[in-house]
Amino acid sequence: MHYISPMSDALSVLVVEDDADAREMLKHAIESWGHVCRTARDGAEALEMHERERADVIISDWQMPRMDGLELCKRTRVSEDDHYTYFIFMTGLSEKKHLVLGMEAGADDYQTKPIHLEELRARLVSARRVVSVYRKLAEKNAALRHDSHVAFRLARRDAVTTIGNRLSLDENLKSIWANAVRYRRRYSIILCDIDWFKTYNDRLGHVAGDRALRTVAETLRDQLRLGDGIYRYGGEEFLVVLPEQGVTEALAVAERLRAAVERRAIQTPAGSGVVTISAGVAELDMERDKTPATWLERADRALYRAKANGRNRSEAAIEAALRGVS
Ligand code: GH3
Ligand code: MG
Ligand code: MG
Ligand code: MG
Repeated sequence: MHYISPMSDALSVLVVEDDADAREMLKHAIESWGHVCRTARDGAEALEMHERERADVIISDWQMPRMDGLELCKRTRVSEDDHYTYFIFMTGLSEKKHLVLGMEAGADDYQTKPIHLEELRARLVSARRVVSVYRKLAEKNAALRHDSHVAFRLARRDAVTTIGNRLSLDENLKSIWANAVRYRRRYSIILCDIDWFKTYNDRLGHVAGDRALRTVAETLRDQLRLGDGIYRYGGEEFLVVLPEQGVTEALAVAERLRAAVERRAIQTPAGSGVVTISAGVAELDMERDKTPATWLERADRALYRAKANGRNRSEAAIEAALRGVS
């Protein structure tokens, strides 16, 4: 559907009238005042035309074949969105007693027949005022909707690395949990932590530290598939979520991530080496993991082992389970 958007002052008017002479006379007058005017012979035809292209103003007769003006007015209001339509009834004197019905159905104004053109012209002036107020409101609404959409997205991004933040992780973990419970979907997580990052920061400063964080995030993201998730979990920690992957596949991904960061060769202050990460992997196990927190804790314990075993390496929670440690 699209809207007729006439020049600033002109209105798009739809005249609905079963009497051909009255119809033509109105159209001629309305166009001579600088408006755009279409005509329909009854309510049904008008509704179809209006749905195809919204009119700013509908001037409708009351009694017409197929669909009368009252029904047209009601239907116009029901299908209304941001585009307001100003509705004027044109009624014979005998129909005037029904007018309250018409106004209750959503009409804005009425005029009694015989048609007085100057009076109609004046009514269109006030119609234009109302329509332009509604138009401005609609524009403001659209801008607000856009802003709130942008704010929604920004609130879920980490400002330094532009990947998902903790809020977006927490929200996604809820749907992951629901999928795992309902459809028994498999998921694994990889918790990555930059090695010796405090030293890096202390020697090179926070600006260089932030730059390194961005590079690591970008390197990790480049290694992942579209359906995978990556989030900034903490200061120099990243969490990767892999759908449909068991611990073995996830451990292979972790190794790939670790190797990619090493290959990226971000120089460390001493010039002796490059920035590396350690990774802890855990597959979701609905038997043990009563909450997302226990799943994350298992990945964290695996990460701790990767650190203890020398850093720049990956460990999986399954080994701990086999040894009965975790
Ligand atoms: P480990 O190998 O055991 O992980 O040692 P580490 O030094 O990386 O770990 P630690 O937790 O002691 O220090 C983490 C450091 O990460 C602390 C801080 O200097 C740095 N860091 C955390 N968040 C940010 C950040 O947003 N920007 C920058 N530049 N540095 C950060
Ligand atoms: Mg009639
Ligand atoms: Mg850490
Ligand atoms: Mg660290």
